[in-house]
Amino acid sequence: MPELPEVETICQALKPALEGHSFQKIQLNRPDLRYPIPYDLESKLAHQSINLVRRRAKYLLVDFSHDLTLIWHLGMSGRVIIEDKGLSLKPSLHDHVVFTTSGNQRIIYRDPRRFGFLRLSSTHQLNEIAPFNTLGAEALDDPHLNGCTFHQCLTRRKISLKSALLDQKVIAGVGNIYASEALWQAKLSPFRLTNTLTLAEAERLLKALQDVLRRAIAVGGSTLRDHIHPNGDIGYFQHELKAYNCEHKLCAHCQSTYLCKTMQNGRATYYCKICQQ
Ligand SMILES: [Zn+2]
Repeated sequence: MPELPEVETICQALKPALEGHSFQKIQLNRPDLRYPIPYDLESKLAHQSINLVRRRAKYLLVDFSHDLTLIWHLGMSGRVIIEDKGLSLKPSLHDHVVFTTSGNQRIIYRDPRRFGFLRLSSTHQLNEIAPFNTLGAEALDDPHLNGCTFHQCLTRRKISLKSALLDQKVIAGVGNIYASEALWQAKLSPFRLTNTLTLAEAERLLKALQDVLRRAIAVGGSTLRDHIHPNGDIGYFQHELKAYNCEHKLCAHCQSTYLCKTMQNGRATYYCKICQQ
C-alpha cells in the first residue's frame, strides 16, 4: 500500500503538471472504485484553475480556485501515471480515470485492485469531514509535533507501540512498512505499551520515524508489489529496508540475532528480540 513517502513522491511529481493548470477533460472509464466516483466530477472541475497539490497523511489533495478539493486515495495498488503530449503509453484495463490537463499532459489513475477512491469536498471545510477531522499530526513538517507532544500523545494511551504508529489519530501517514523500520531503528519493541515510554524514548522514536520517512522520500518510496511512481521508475527504498520483509536476516544493529516475523493485530511485524526492548 502506498504510504506517506510514496504519496509524497507522487504529490511532488503532480505539482508541476497541475498547479496553475486546469483539467480540460476528465474521462471516467467506470462508475466506481472503492466507492462511486462522483458522476459530476468533470462538470464540477473541468476548466477550473488548480491552486495547489498537497498531501495530508496518505491522501493526495488537489485544491481548485473555486473552493473545491479533489481528495484522492490510492488504496492498495493505485498508481498515477503522468503522460506527456504525444507520448501515448500502452493503455491498461485498469486505467479507471484519465485527466487531460491544459498543459497537454494526461494524468492516468491506474488501480488494478480498485481500493482507491476519489471524492470532492469544499476546501475550507475539508478539516471538518472524516477522516481529516480526526487525523493526528503529520509525521513530517508538523509545527506542533516534537518529542514532548509525541510523548504526551503516546502516554495518554495504553496500546502497543506498533498499533500506535499505525493509528492515524496518533500520527498521520505511517503504515506497516515504516512503522516496523522506525521501531527497529529506535531499538524499541513493537509490543511495548505506549504508557511505559520515557520522554527520551519517545524522542528517539520520533527521530527514527522521521529519518526513515525522509530517506524513503529521497529515493521515491518502497514500491513493494505494484506501486510505481509517476515517472515510471520504481522506488528504491526497498533495498534499504532493515526490518520489514527481513525475517531470517541478521539484525544490522547487533549482527548476532536473526530478525523475527510475527503477526500483530493481523499485520506482519518484523523485529530483533535482543535489540528492541
Ligand atoms: Zn539486533
